[in-house]
Amino acid sequence: MESYDALLASITPATGETRTILDPATGTAVGEAPVHTVEDLQAAIDAARAAQPAWAAAGHDARSAALLKAADAVERSAEELARLLSREQGKPLNGPNARFEVGACAAWLRAAAATPLEAETVVDDGDTRAELHYRPIGVVGAIGPWNWPMMITVWQIAPALRMGNAVVVKPSEYTPLSVLALAAVINEELPEGLLTVVSGGRDVGEALATHPAIGKVMFTGSTTTGKAIIRSSADTVKRLTLELGGNDAGIVLPDADPAAIAEGLFWGAFINTGQTCAALKRLYVHDSLYDAVCTELTAVAKAMPMGNGLDENNVLGPLQNRQQYNIVARLVDAARDSGARILLGGNPETGQAGNFYPTTLVADIDNNNPLVAEEQFGPALPIIRYTTIDQAIAMANALDVGLGASVWSTDLDAARDVAARLQAGTVWINKHGAVDPRIPFGGAKQSGYGLEFGVEGLKALGVPQVING
Ligand code: NAD
Repeated sequence: MESYDALLASITPATGETRTILDPATGTAVGEAPVHTVEDLQAAIDAARAAQPAWAAAGHDARSAALLKAADAVERSAEELARLLSREQGKPLNGPNARFEVGACAAWLRAAAATPLEAETVVDDGDTRAELHYRPIGVVGAIGPWNWPMMITVWQIAPALRMGNAVVVKPSEYTPLSVLALAAVINEELPEGLLTVVSGGRDVGEALATHPAIGKVMFTGSTTTGKAIIRSSADTVKRLTLELGGNDAGIVLPDADPAAIAEGLFWGAFINTGQTCAALKRLYVHDSLYDAVCTELTAVAKAMPMGNGLDENNVLGPLQNRQQYNIVARLVDAARDSGARILLGGNPETGQAGNFYPTTLVADIDNNNPLVAEEQFGPALPIIRYTTIDQAIAMANALDVGLGASVWSTDLDAARDVAARLQAGTVWINKHGAVDPRIPFGGAKQSGYGLEFGVEGLKALGVPQVING
C-alpha cells in the first residue's frame, strides 16, 4: 500500500453496518470496522471451500513461494501497518512493540515457507513399509485476541496456508482493523477466497467453532473462551490448537546478579505494557537479594517512557481497552488494601482520555493475593519473597495454568534443575517470553494444548495419514 490512508481506505467498507474503533491513547476515531454477521461468515466459508482444492493441489513449493511473496508485501507496507497497529492497539511504534510485531509477521511467514516437512518412513523392514504423511485439513478457523493481533493471526494462518488449507479469521472485536489490514496486504499475493477476515462478535466466533465445514480451529485467547470453543466444537469433533491464558512465574535464584537481570526482568513482565500471554506475571525472589532486585527493577522501570504510541520516544502504551484497565486497577487496589507495598505506580491519573495505567511494582505481597493468583494482563508486577527453592517451586506450580515460566541465575545447571520441576510449556533461563519461529510453543495445564511454530506447528495444521503397504 502506498500510504497509511490507502491502507485504511482498502479496509473501510463502502456499504453495510460499521463500528467506530477508538484509539486507546486518545479516545479519538481510528477507523470504521465492518460489522460482519453469521451470513458473512457463511459466504467466507463458501469462498474458502471453493479456493482450497486448487491451493492444496499446488503443492508445498508453490505455497511456500506465495508465503514468501506475502512476507515481502508485509515488509513493503510495514510502516503503514505498524502505524495502524499502534493507533488501534495502543502499543508504541518503538521498543518491542508495533514495528517489532509487523517484523515478526514477515519473519513467521518466511519461517512457515522455509520449514521442511517430509513424509516419515516409520517402518521399512522388508515386510511392511509404512509412511506418515500430513494432508490438508480443508478450511481452518482462526480466532484471535487483541494484544498481538497481527502477529498471532500470522502464527495461525501461515502454517495453515503452508499446509494447503484455506483460512477464515475471526479477529477480536477490539482490534479488527489491524487484522483486516494485515490480511489485505497478504491477500495481494494469495488466490481469491483463500484467506478471509470476518469482523464479527462472539456470535460469529461461536458459529465458526460450530460450523461443520471448519475442520480445525486455531484459538488464542482466554481460558474461559477456550473452554467454550471445546464445547462448541465437540459435535463436529474439530481439531483444536488452544493457546490460552497464562500467569507466568519467574524465580530469581540466590546467586543471580540483580543489576544484570533487571532489564530482562522488566521486559519479561512489561512487554506490550504487560498485555502478553507469556509475560512474567509473578516474580519470586529469594530473601537474600529481594531488596536489591526491588531496587534495580524500580530503577529500570522508572526510566521507561509511557505515552502515545506514535511518539517515537515511548516504549510503553495504554491498556487496549477500558475493561482491561479496570481489571488492573481493581487488582492493584486490592493489593494495596491488603497491606502490600507499592514500589512504583499504582496511581493512575483520573479523568484522562486514554487508558494509561502507570508501570506498577508491588512488593511484600502474599502469594494468595488476587494480583498474584489472577492473570492481571497489564503493567503491574507482584514481587513475592521466598526462602527455599522448594517453596518457590511450589508457589510457581500452584495455579491451574502453565504457559511459560523463567529461572534467573548465574548457575545454568542449577537453573535447568529448577526449570525441569516447573509446570509450564516453556521455561526460559535468564529471559522470559522470547518466542522464535523455529521453536515449538504451547501451554501446559489450562493454558491449552497443541504446539505452534517449527515443524510441530506445521504438523498441527495437517491431518496425519499413514500409507501402509
Ligand atoms: P477472549 O477469549 O476474550 O477473546 C478471544 C477471541 O475469542 C475474540 O476474537 C472473541 O471474539 C472470541 N470469542 C469470545 N467468545 C467466543 C466464543 N464463545 N466462541 C468463539 N469465539 C469467541 O480473549 P482476549 O481478552 O481477546 O485475550 C486475552 C487473553 O488471551 C488472555 O487470557 C491471554 O493470556 C490470552 N492469550 C494467550 C496467548 C497464548 O499464546 N497462549 C496469546 C495471547 C493472548
